[in-house]
Amino acid sequence: MTTLLSTVEAPPRYIPNDPRPTLLGLTREGLAEAMGRAGVPEKQRRMRAGQVWHWLYQRGVTSFAEMTNIAKDLRQRLEETFIIGRPEIVTEQTSNDGTKKWLLRLAPDERGARHEVEMVYIPEEDRGTLCISSQVGCTLTCTFCHTGTQKLVRNLTAGEIVAQVMTARDRVKDWPQDIEANPTPPLSGRYITNVVLMGMGEPLYNFDNVKDAMEIVSDGEGISLSKRRITLSTSGVVPEIQRAGDEIGTMLAISLHGTTDEIRDKLVPLNKKYPIKELLTACRSYPGASNARRITFEYVMLKGVNDTPADAKRLVQLLKGIPAKVNLIPFNPWPGTQYECSEWDTIEVFAEILNRAGYASPVRTPRGRDIMAACGQLKSESQKLRAKERIALDATQ
Ligand code: SAH
Ligand code: SF4
Repeated sequence: MTTLLSTVEAPPRYIPNDPRPTLLGLTREGLAEAMGRAGVPEKQRRMRAGQVWHWLYQRGVTSFAEMTNIAKDLRQRLEETFIIGRPEIVTEQTSNDGTKKWLLRLAPDERGARHEVEMVYIPEEDRGTLCISSQVGCTLTCTFCHTGTQKLVRNLTAGEIVAQVMTARDRVKDWPQDIEANPTPPLSGRYITNVVLMGMGEPLYNFDNVKDAMEIVSDGEGISLSKRRITLSTSGVVPEIQRAGDEIGTMLAISLHGTTDEIRDKLVPLNKKYPIKELLTACRSYPGASNARRITFEYVMLKGVNDTPADAKRLVQLLKGIPAKVNLIPFNPWPGTQYECSEWDTIEVFAEILNRAGYASPVRTPRGRDIMAACGQLKSESQKLRAKERIALDATQ
């Protein structure tokens, strides 16, 4: 079911050519500095930034008017200097299994273009996982991935990454005051218990913005999602893996998908640059990995490509010495793909070999396939404007 949200329901719309920057996505220091730009004297900046932080990330307000413990004249100055809006929700779809997918339209970039990204919420009995995007499109071209057919348009800003989590909290009524007022709150105390960077894009190619965004999302005085409940998935950008562990500190998932360089080169072309051996060496020294904090290896099951018992055995060998679990993902089809999902029996045989070798290897139940919300099905219509198109767009504004 697709719902087009009315303007009334949707958060504030962007004013064309609005020069005011957003406060969302600034770190605490950045926010304190921003207070200076709204005329707050140096001595008060940290305190004011703390108050604004609370309203933004603990309460989820969408206007300065709601920040009631801040004097009216300062609220006025903040309003004149900054915005805190959310992206526009173009569509909200609900799958017959309860999965939700949103198409979000971002604020205009410096060229005036308004790009779009998708985001998915997967409710389960004991948890709710929000899958967010880190880029519009992707520079990489994994052959089984729908996003990979969309060229990279641009990186998302830290604010746009955080705003996805905030928008999802708005829509599923997950802010603390909503939960308090809820007569039947969720088992786990909140609806969004986990965040995965598994939407559109390669998060390690947008390192700094992802880092700032995850700092904000995990801040204990805000959205407060522990880094143990945030998973960053990478297709294997080896030089950034160590740094991701040191500086971002979330759980790590590796999109492995092949057990020989020959196969993986075809599936994940980045493998030609960073082959399996180098990738696994980086995983072996991933800071913070332990039996309690295992690295997840994602493995998409493609019929006749990577799904034999010999592949499963090679996988076991490759993972030796790494605190690992394997996530077997039945391939999710999309229009125009050359691949098919492995037969169920084949997947079971594969999983059994991994299980017997001591690797937990749950088969991920496909969720939201009917609304193209499952792994690897996300894509938006956004395209990078060619120079000619940009000039035309500029002329209209
Ligand atoms: N770019 C990152 C994160 C986004 S993709 C990465 O590649 O890791 C999230 C996961 O979905 C990855 O493991 C990806 O390989 C997998 N995936 C992509 N297309 C898929 C498809 N059609 N079916 C199932 N899984 C897919
Ligand atoms: Fe990009 Fe990940 Fe898709 Fe590969 S699987 S094209 S890295 S989004």
